[in-house]
Amino acid sequence: MKETENCMDNQEYDVIVVGCGPAGCTTATLVAQKGYQVLLLERDELPSFKVGESLIPGTYWTLKRLGMIDQMKESHFPEKYSVQFYSQTGKPSAPFYFFENDPHESSMTWQVLRSEFDQMLVKNAEKHGVEIRRGTHVHQVLFDDKKAVGVRAKLKSDKNTRDFRAKVIVDSTGQSALISRKMKINVADPKLKNASIFTHFEGAFRDEGIDEGATLILHTENKDSWFWYIPLPHDRVSVGVVGSIDYLMQAKEKGAQTIFDNQIKKCKPLQEKLENAKQVFSVKVTKDFSYRSKQIAGDHWVLVGDALGFLDPVYSSGILLAFKSGEMAADCIDLAFERKDFSAEQLGAFEAEFISGMDAFRKLVYAFYSKEFSFAKFLKRFPKCKQGVIDILSGNVFNQEVQEIFKPMQTMYPTLKDLSA
Ligand SMILES: Cc1cc2nc3c(=O)[nH]c(=O)nc-3n(C[C@H](O)[C@H](O)[C@H](O)COP(=O)(O)OP(=O)(O)OC[C@H]3O[C@@H](n4cnc5c(N)ncnc54)[C@H](O)[C@@H]3O)c2cc1C
Repeated sequence: MKETENCMDNQEYDVIVVGCGPAGCTTATLVAQKGYQVLLLERDELPSFKVGESLIPGTYWTLKRLGMIDQMKESHFPEKYSVQFYSQTGKPSAPFYFFENDPHESSMTWQVLRSEFDQMLVKNAEKHGVEIRRGTHVHQVLFDDKKAVGVRAKLKSDKNTRDFRAKVIVDSTGQSALISRKMKINVADPKLKNASIFTHFEGAFRDEGIDEGATLILHTENKDSWFWYIPLPHDRVSVGVVGSIDYLMQAKEKGAQTIFDNQIKKCKPLQEKLENAKQVFSVKVTKDFSYRSKQIAGDHWVLVGDALGFLDPVYSSGILLAFKSGEMAADCIDLAFERKDFSAEQLGAFEAEFISGMDAFRKLVYAFYSKEFSFAKFLKRFPKCKQGVIDILSGNVFNQEVQEIFKPMQTMYPTLKDLSA
């Protein structure tokens, strides 16, 4: 056999899912639950560090459908009841407790170590009958004219490439966004050209009681950037700074660690919380993470999770949107088999509902990045909007009512033109 020869896997699957993150595992598990044959392919041989450690309450309903609530309750992941914002002057808002709206066990969620959480999702997919192959890097989706028919992958264990065939190909490759980058149908969000620098600390300040697992969002002075503060197991706290690429990377010759340390100095309450803490590993950097694919599905293929689009980390919406798109795509795939219709219209039938939910987050993200906006001032003037704000922060974004907070917000901040878009 020649070095570059392709081998064909003889078996044809119903569905191939590429990427073992929250989106891929959700789609694969729910499709397998319906009795279809699913192959889940993952590039990494072992689960590894990933950013994206804070869940929001709306993830409860997907975890429930996946049959994972008991496992989450038994895990060592800190319980998260609220999110709290610190202004650029260092003043904290009152915590936004998720149970204020609708007390239910779903009003509490978790802060997770992604290597462990993703592995739990993978094991659960396996339990539901999904065939999983790690160390399998998909290089290409195979098309017959416009119809996706399979994937070509390189196995770590084998120097040849291998072709796998299926009726439906799900791209859940996260920010690699295999299909949309190849087709050049990704559109970056021009208002969110941001970068992030992050790491973990040990021995940092931890609040007590139900505030122990709260996510803190802290603005730096001048509001040019903000930090997340996410309590994790093993006395760890995840700390990351986010700001525009132009601002954060202007002194990039100094190195990411120096930029990170300088940003901490611009955030007094964070400095205090990290006073006795030890940094656990070298800072990591990511940028240009906010984009969306113009097309959600095609003939026999569909995108889910970050492969479809990512907004911004400020409200920890990534995993919720990965879960929801995974769920919605799985339901569309089931119907596609029932109707023998694998068109873009059928596989992407969830587009309008999903994008409207994503837009609720997007509008609140734009407000957050505007220098004039303040949650405290907005809610002081429009106290009735608190429920809508908590709904969005909880991830209850898939009903039109949550959009109602944007009319008064527009009145108060007329320069925020995109709120009505
Ligand atoms: C700075 C930052 C902070 C964030 N913080 C949060 C947060 O606090 N809370 C939150 O909910 N979200 C957060 N997110 C977002 C969150 O991490 C993602 O939205 C989430 O991981 C998306 O899940 P996914 O399954 O779509 O992709 P991923 O989790 O990225 O999974 C994709 C998988 O595909 C695999 N893969 C990629 N290419 C290939 C290939 N060619 N072949 C085979 N396998 C492949 C990868 O190895 C990976 O395992 C953050 C994001 C950023 C950038």
